[in-house]
Amino acid sequence: MPFTIKKSRRINELPPYLFAEIDRRKREALSRGVDLIDLGIGDPDIPTPSAVVEKLLEGASKPANHRYPSSSGMAEFRQAVANWYQSRFNVKLDPAKEVVSLIGSKEGIGNMAVAFVDPGDLVLVASPCYPVYHIGTAFSGGKNYFLPLKKENKFLPDLEAIPADVAKQAKMLWINYPNNPTAAVADKDFYRRVIDFANKHNVIVCHDAAYTEMGFDGYKPMSFLQVEGAREVGIEFHSLSKTFNMTGWRIGMAVGNPELVGGLAQAKSNLDSGIFQAVQEAGIEALKQGDKIVEPSRKIYQERRDILVDGLRAVGLECDKPKATFYVWVSCPKGLSSAEFTAKLLDDAGVVTTPGIGFGAAGEGYVRFTVCVDKERLREVAERIRRVKL
Ligand SMILES: *Cc1c(COP(=O)(O)O)cnc(C)c1O
Repeated sequence: MPFTIKKSRRINELPPYLFAEIDRRKREALSRGVDLIDLGIGDPDIPTPSAVVEKLLEGASKPANHRYPSSSGMAEFRQAVANWYQSRFNVKLDPAKEVVSLIGSKEGIGNMAVAFVDPGDLVLVASPCYPVYHIGTAFSGGKNYFLPLKKENKFLPDLEAIPADVAKQAKMLWINYPNNPTAAVADKDFYRRVIDFANKHNVIVCHDAAYTEMGFDGYKPMSFLQVEGAREVGIEFHSLSKTFNMTGWRIGMAVGNPELVGGLAQAKSNLDSGIFQAVQEAGIEALKQGDKIVEPSRKIYQERRDILVDGLRAVGLECDKPKATFYVWVSCPKGLSSAEFTAKLLDDAGVVTTPGIGFGAAGEGYVRFTVCVDKERLREVAERIRRVKL
């Protein structure tokens, strides 16, 4: 018998990777020498503020930082998170029980299922969405029930439309505002309805708040925890990645209900050993500086958003002007699926985007553009699309 290696069912049953086909076409275009404009992946191109980088350099030379960190995060980091939540959202957190550090929020989102989802448990997830929510469920043997986000509902899930038996069975609900990929935002009224739903059906609420600092035109997105009753039912995931242009650093946090934070911390302590302390010291500096270092990038993204949206509209494409995030959710021209539209943009215009269907079935009909390239390149996007026959 030849030696055989078989991957686990959880890996073999993964849906096809969202970016794999695009990556293939991208490589093909690059090998033909095409000058691609990549509006595919949401990753800030602006460097991390230098005050933060300085702290890392300082921290890297301290021998105390060369040892294992605590899995839940340094007390000073958790305190800095609590201080930031207090000053930014007026939310009071106990750093010992209501804050846990994450190796990027993606890690925490995945491990949330390890901590709280048993085989057969039902988890409510939006479609389209950031894929880690439902992949976490699937890896833990749970089942996902998808809530379609529709334009007529401002891309908020319609909780009233959830069948009674599903609501009754549900263990957990994932929400994410400001939203990736639709760029939609949520208000207090929506969060109140979420809390009512959670209490009525005993459902844990997980809010992914990665984009609260990327609000435009003076709009300040809120934290789920600002709403009365949120802490009783929920946990909020946040990250330094998008806020401070630190995606490569891998540092984030989960805050809120102490039992949920504690459960996540327990799962993590069995799987990882926390974040390099020098990175945490740099993170403390970022949180301390807060808006002072966020505002310059917010201005840049807002200007880019205007250039992209105005340009796309000028060539006849339909999209809302986002109030937050660095995404623009664009309707496909009549007669084209999101995969076809994306392929056309890539092959005929050299513009890389992401098909809505890659974020879930209900994402069909849309394509996601990001504004993570400079404004000169963004101006060129509309020019290139103008020359394509759509
Ligand atoms: C980028 C992103 C994250 C992950 O960020 P980390 O770098 O892992 O902190 C989480 N949620 C959404 C919606 C994102 O777009």
